[in-house]
Order: sequence, then structure tokens, then C-alpha cells
Amino acid sequence: MGGPGTEETPGSSRKSPKRLAAEMTAIFENLSEAVIVVDALGDVLFINRAGREIAGLSSSTWSVHDADSNCLLYPDGQPVAQEDRPALRLLAGKSVKNLELMVVRTDGTQRRVTCNGALFAINGKVMAAVAFRDVTEVYRMEELRQDLIRTMSHDLRNPLAVISAQAQILKRSLEAKGLSHEAMGADVITKASLRMSRLIEGLVNSTRADLLNGSRSDADEKVLVDLDSVARALAEKLNMVQPEARISVRSPMETPKVFGEPFRFEQILENLLSNALKYSPAHSPVLVTFTHDDSWVTVTVKDEGVGIAPEELPKLFSRFYRASSGAGTEGIGLGLYIAKSAVEGLGGRIWVESVLGQGSTFYFSLPVRTDNTLH
Ligand code: ADP
Repeated sequence: MGGPGTEETPGSSRKSPKRLAAEMTAIFENLSEAVIVVDALGDVLFINRAGREIAGLSSSTWSVHDADSNCLLYPDGQPVAQEDRPALRLLAGKSVKNLELMVVRTDGTQRRVTCNGALFAINGKVMAAVAFRDVTEVYRMEELRQDLIRTMSHDLRNPLAVISAQAQILKRSLEAKGLSHEAMGADVITKASLRMSRLIEGLVNSTRADLLNGSRSDADEKVLVDLDSVARALAEKLNMVQPEARISVRSPMETPKVFGEPFRFEQILENLLSNALKYSPAHSPVLVTFTHDDSWVTVTVKDEGVGIAPEELPKLFSRFYRASSGAGTEGIGLGLYIAKSAVEGLGGRIWVESVLGQGSTFYFSLPVRTDNTLH
């Protein structure tokens, strides 16, 4: 392929850039997905109509150079270096998969996009094609939803705390007057408000899990975490509030460390352990075990409880899903959804095996990290 404007040689199977651009226009121009094609030198060969709209390029006067000069930012506002632009990443042999970026349009407004790309060759010339989807509105709606939940939960918490405190005072004064039946009524109010607080906390946690998976979080620092210590501390805490210690932790000599925000590991384990306690008889054991190979640490939480029917297993990790095992037990169907979001946010996977009437075993695997694998 020659320089810009090179005409096709009669009888040759090689295509001129003009011909290539015409073919690409025919294929990509009217796709609803935005597509940009870049040659091996990183010069933009083609950008389709949807792409021009996202980039804010005028439909009549745009040129490929305008497309090249669009400023790209990471979602946190940091500029994307020239060599890290999606097409150049592809040409450098790196992958571009669900990469989230902001495009600064020619009028200064910004659009949030998700990019996916691949290399391809025509006439032996390597090129990079990047497809990008405008997710600005999706993000705006999601932020609104999360703001709404945060505001509502904050506004609900304070009056609930007042109700609970006043009901406790009322209970004590009724008891002091020997009005035990009325005191029981006040106790019901306290318990109901506690239940409501837990439901609100569940909603807030699910919002937090969504936020963490949707964007990079700088709020919580990522560190190397010893999962074994997290599990032992949690088991001790939960055993203390049970009539007897039901949770035991078994681990090999040394469990490799994992990398992430410590609260996330606690969140995963706490959700699985509290379910194991909740959905099994009062005195039955709950066992946490660790296994590992060079790449993965796998944690197992095993109970001898009610179990889950096979047809319900595929839906178990969905938001607000409650299986028949949950009937008669308090819950809102968010614990496993949050655990799954957190595990996946840490690059791992979570799954379950269960036999109805005999018990359930939840597993999650996380990538092993050492100081040497951090960068
Ligand atoms: P919740 O416990 O609040 O209902 P979860 O998302 O933690 O929500 O769990 C979803 C459903 O999965 C529960 O309602 C219950 O039916 C089932 N479940 C979870 N863990 C267990 C378990 N260890 N044994 C039996 N059923 C379970």
C-alpha cells in the first residue's frame, strides 16, 4: 500500500488507501457501533458516522487528522498518553477489552466510551480496528440511582436510630412499672427497626459493590492481604455472638497472600459465613478451608444445612434472588450478589455445590499475589 492518494495499479490485487477507505465506508459507515481504523503507523484511516458523532466531528468538514487529535482521558480525568491510545496499544501487541475512557469532543464536552479492539491485515498490512460504545447516559443514570440510594439510606438511618433508642427507653420504663405485655410491644418495635437498618445496610453495600466494579476506586487502598488471618478474625467475631463456637478454620501451613482492598475480603467471607450459619441448624458445624496452587487461593465455606435445590443454583448469585431455602429466614437476597461482585472485582470466581437437606459448599478462588507480581 502506497502513500495517501496512491492509485490502484491495473491488474494488481493490492488496494490503494482510497479504495480501502471506500470499502470500509461501505462496511462500517452505517453501523450503530462506532468504529475507527488505524494503520500500522498509528494514522487514522477511517472513522464511521457513529464514531464521528461521539468525537463531535462535523459531518461535512471532518478529516482523519481531526479524529486523531481528539483528546482521550481515563475515567479519573488523567490524560491518556499517545502510546496508550487504544489503537496504538493494539499495534504494540497489548489487548483492548472493555477499556473505559472519556473522549473530549471538539466542543469541549466529554463522552464516556467502552472500547474493544482487534488487529487485522489487508494486503499484508497490519491495521487496528477499535469499536467504541457511548455509555455516557448509562453511567449518568447509574450515578443518579446510586446517589438516590445513598441519600435515601442516609435520611432513613437517623429517624430509625431515634425510633430504636426511644423504643428501648420505653421498654425499660414499662418493665419498671410491671407492664410486661406492653414492654414486649416496645421490644417488637426495636427488633423491627434493627431489621430495617440491616436491609438499608444491604442496599448501601450493594451500591458500593457496584461502584467498585464500575470504576477504579481510590477510596480504599489495595494491599497484600493474608486471607487466613481475615477468616480467623471473622470466625472469632461470629463465634462470640453464637451460643457455641460453630465456625472452624483449617488452612495449610502458609496460605499465599491476595491483593486488594481488605474490606472486600471481609465482605465476601462475612456474607458466606453468615449465610452458612443462617441456613443450617443451630448446633451444626461450619468449616472454612484454604487450598492453593501457584496461581490461585481457593477458600471453601461448608455447612451442613438445608441445602439448595439444583434448579435454583444458577440464579443464586443474582441481585435480590432468594431460594426456597431462604423461606422463613430474614434476608433480602443481596449477600451472594455482593460476594460475587467483590470476588470478580478482585479477578476471581465464585461457585457453589449443594445437596438439598445435606448442606452447601461455597467456593471462591482469587489470584495469588506476591510482592514480585504486584507490578
Ligand atoms: P439472603 O440470605 O439475604 O436471602 P443471599 O444473597 O446471601 O441473600 O442468598 C441468596 C439465597 O441463597 C438465600 O435467600 C438462600 O435461599 C440461599 N442461600 C445462600 N446461602 C445458603 C446456604 N449456605 N445454604 C442454603 N441456602 C443458601
